[in-house]
Amino acid sequence: MSGLPAVTTVEIMKVLLALGGNAMTNRDGRARVEDQIAAAQVAMQAVAGLVSEGIDVVITHGNGPQVGNLLVKNELAASVVPPVPLDWCGAQTQGTLGFVLMNALDAALAERGIDKRSAAVVTRARVDAGDAGFTRPTKPIGRFLPAEEARVLREHGEIWEDRGEKGWRRMVASPEPLEILDAPAVHALVEAGFVVVANGGGGIPVVRDADGVLHGVEAVIDKDLGAALLARSVEVDVLVVATDVSNAVLRYGQPSAEQVGTVSVDQMRGYGSEGHFASGSMGPKVDAVCRFVEQGGRRAVITNLDNIVDAVAGNAGTVVVPN
Ligand code: ADP
Ligand code: MG
Repeated sequence: MSGLPAVTTVEIMKVLLALGGNAMTNRDGRARVEDQIAAAQVAMQAVAGLVSEGIDVVITHGNGPQVGNLLVKNELAASVVPPVPLDWCGAQTQGTLGFVLMNALDAALAERGIDKRSAAVVTRARVDAGDAGFTRPTKPIGRFLPAEEARVLREHGEIWEDRGEKGWRRMVASPEPLEILDAPAVHALVEAGFVVVANGGGGIPVVRDADGVLHGVEAVIDKDLGAALLARSVEVDVLVVATDVSNAVLRYGQPSAEQVGTVSVDQMRGYGSEGHFASGSMGPKVDAVCRFVEQGGRRAVITNLDNIVDAVAGNAGTVVVPN
């Protein structure tokens, strides 16, 4: 949309690819084991395509459907075995999805004859214990439950809110990620030649006590904001936010809708403040790509998986570049 020049891959060394929830489940949102394995195979073919161009890749991923399933298990079993906290659910999904992605990635790399291996890092993101969300949680998660079932979980210390006709819903904080604590491990593995999966679900939220000890907290970090911070921490050249649309769109859903191509970060912030990007979906992606570029990143792209190789080169998707 602007006259900014296209950029080439030649000088690109390191990319962070953030996979949306849709890249990790069936198209209709089902998250059966076979759906997740199939989705991972498709996504990792795209990653192998990048690796075959000589690009170092770090992968991060959403975990909404997977955490949702774990919460249902917690709820159904709450009177038999103690529910595990949300940070444990996050850690479990990082482990499981890391495993699934590694299998798919090693196979995709071997198919292309690429002598590179994968690694997954259980990754913690530090948040502020004083974040307002901890005293007044604003993020609803999981399914609606009748009052009686919610009561059992409230007895286990969870916060549930009466949301009217549909029933009760669990509420948690969605704090700002401040520091990706395990970024140095990710960095070292990339330097050692691994394709690394890290910071799934935005990172496992932890706070540091006055005595310096870390402990997990019941919260959900935005996956895209976590990705932007990891991207800066491991100093990638390009952040790619992969989702189910090829571009961010102005006047989305209206007859005059228009795709955003290559724009400066100030232009993109301007579109954001005009209200073009929905808060629960495209909004955080736009915020994430803008943050990355504002903090010194070279280029950030929002697009779908089919466009990944072109997107990294700045030739597809919504490309945000420095002013
Ligand atoms: P993911 O699971 O990949 O994180 P989301 O569903 O959270 O993806 O966000 C992508 C969705 O955002 C698109 O499928 C689209 O329906 C929605 N969306 C909202 N506003 C816009 C916009 N302005 N341009 C493009 N997509 C938008
Ligand atoms: Mg989604």
